[in-house]
Amino acid sequence: MPHSENSPRTVLVTGGNRGIGYAIAEEFVALGHRVAVTARSGEGPAGSLTVRADVTDASSIDAAFSEIEQKLGPVEVVVANAGITRDTLLMRMSEDDFDSVVNTNLGGSFRVVKRASKGMLKARFGRIVLISSVVGLYGGPGQVNYASSKAGLVGMARSITRELGARGITANVIAPGFIETDMTAELPEATQAEYKKGIPAGRFATPAEVAKVVAWIAGDDAGYISGAVIPVDGGLGMGH
Ligand code: NDP
Repeated sequence: MPHSENSPRTVLVTGGNRGIGYAIAEEFVALGHRVAVTARSGEGPAGSLTVRADVTDASSIDAAFSEIEQKLGPVEVVVANAGITRDTLLMRMSEDDFDSVVNTNLGGSFRVVKRASKGMLKARFGRIVLISSVVGLYGGPGQVNYASSKAGLVGMARSITRELGARGITANVIAPGFIETDMTAELPEATQAEYKKGIPAGRFATPAEVAKVVAWIAGDDAGYISGAVIPVDGGLGMGH
């Protein structure tokens, strides 16, 4: 059989100015796709279009999509990657700590995929990729807000799959473990060493190792995979 080629697509990655989102955008650019990133500050990688958007604000998302549609065409692949943490123990977690994390990670993904679904339905093609976390199903002390938001993405992808699966649209969840980004750099060295002991691979991953999996699940070859949770965690969460 000949090696299959992926069709060039219009791709949007939220939070593509740094970390995992930046690496995902870089990978899609390298594969020859038309790539846009949203950023509140900074820029996406060379070869991508940067648009300003805050995922907590539906009107800014709508404006970003309109700009992308005009410059690159309708979004065919959307990667909901923008996310925040506000870790603290349950007893100390304020309503605002909870709401802001859920509103960004879960609400932000909802706003972005809702807007993306319009064009995908018309095209009868779409790839929705939600960046969750191993913590969504594994849990994490001090992460009641974050884990709730990331677990919610699984229900979101599976509901989208049931709703839109017959229209050529897939929705999948990527659940990274510990990845070397600003988010994990904030952890004290001793905590990082402790976490590494629990990871069968014995190390954190690079953002590129997540990006390669995202590009594959968004590709033409993965058209019959939907509602899946794909771990990229060095074996940390086995049993999900
Ligand atoms: P970073 O903290 O390095 O980057 C977060 C990105 O999200 C930034 O681009 C940031 O934009 C953007 N963002 C945050 N809030 C908003 C908002 N309201 N509107 C628009 N953009 C926003 O994170 P990572 O690269 O580490 O993480 C990316 C995703 O991967 C997140 O969803 C995270 O939960 C998940 N993840 C990360 C893991 C890790 O080990 N690093 C492990 C598992 C999952 P700005 O620069 O403007 O703030």
